[in-house]
Amino acid sequence: MTDGKTARRWRSKLVHPKVAASQDFRALVPAVHRGSTVVFDRVADARDDWRSEGYSYGLYGTPTTRELALRIADLEGARASFVVPGGQAAIALIYLTYCRAGDHALIPESAYRPNRELADELLSGLRIEVEAYDPLLGADIAKLIRPNTRLIWCESPGTITMEVQDVPAIVGAAHAAGVPVALDNTYAAGVLFDAFAHGVDVSMQALTKYVGGHSDLLLGTVSAGSEEARERVGATHRLLGLAVSPDDCALALRGLETLAVRLDRLAVTALEVARWLKARPEIELVLHPALSDCPGHEVWRRDFTGSASVFSIVFRSDWNTARVARFAETLRLFQLGFSWGGTHSLVMAYPPLPRVRRGYDGRIVRLNVGLEEPADLIADLHRALTEEP
Ligand SMILES: *Cc1c(COP(=O)(O)O)cnc(C)c1O
Repeated sequence: MTDGKTARRWRSKLVHPKVAASQDFRALVPAVHRGSTVVFDRVADARDDWRSEGYSYGLYGTPTTRELALRIADLEGARASFVVPGGQAAIALIYLTYCRAGDHALIPESAYRPNRELADELLSGLRIEVEAYDPLLGADIAKLIRPNTRLIWCESPGTITMEVQDVPAIVGAAHAAGVPVALDNTYAAGVLFDAFAHGVDVSMQALTKYVGGHSDLLLGTVSAGSEEARERVGATHRLLGLAVSPDDCALALRGLETLAVRLDRLAVTALEVARWLKARPEIELVLHPALSDCPGHEVWRRDFTGSASVFSIVFRSDWNTARVARFAETLRLFQLGFSWGGTHSLVMAYPPLPRVRRGYDGRIVRLNVGLEEPADLIADLHRALTEEP
């Protein structure tokens, strides 16, 4: 106990100092609270209830982690959000919330690859069957729903192939059968597509991408649209021990303050670069949601309020996989790397995709534009397209 009258020797002073700075520091940004243990006045208070606003243990929330969760929930119009160590952890949390042994789930063929791998390499062993569907099937998803279907995933636009999904149509069919819908809303940064206004039950995003925005942190969120979803996700979140660093949360909070200007700038640059590529003779398709080549472009116009920094191009059939790879390696401002949403431009070339539809036989390249000058990015692309083999 801390009793001001008791004299303390120096060793005790180290852990029980009698001095403290005023906490009345009115900075414009939230403080970083690091802490595992929190202390109580009464034994009866020493209880954990994840629903309460009180703090019980750092794993279940610090003022910094909760500040981020509250701001994301407010931004997305969610009932509540839960911060997790990354986008992939958010995907795992959603599966483990909704699926049990014997259940069936549906996932678009265009989903983020590690989502599929989680299904194939881990959930299958737990007797959870995850079946891939054509991302463009819309209300026809009804035909794939079984009595044991417990979850339908959407991801729009899809990873690499960029299909924009008719989420409201899928939600309509799913809800008619009593099945909840989860959305990977990373492309939209939780703001360019309003998941909950379009009926989604639970939405996740990798804050790693646009909210972080500087390629220096890994974080994710799961947002619940209803009280029921909040109960289910919250209870599972608590059990899984998905601890996040308050320092990373502080970086994400900082990222939120500049998200609008970064997204606006990235959208303009991406469109300028995409339109330039569309006019090039080497390119067959530009899979950018705001351009008509992109499957689901009309749905994007109906449902989204903007586009982001990432899109793909498909080379004409006289370009083989090796030549496409050389193009990607020849670029200088676009560096070869995964992920997107930061300040640097990135490129990745893909072998034929293991998909029934739109596999693009090794002629697809994904580009992520950063904050460089658009004319320099275009000059870089021009050089790589026209360099003699
Ligand atoms: C990057 C990404 C994820 C995973 O996020 P991490 O934070 O890297 O785990 C999930 N979904 C999509 C669509 C992504 O692009």
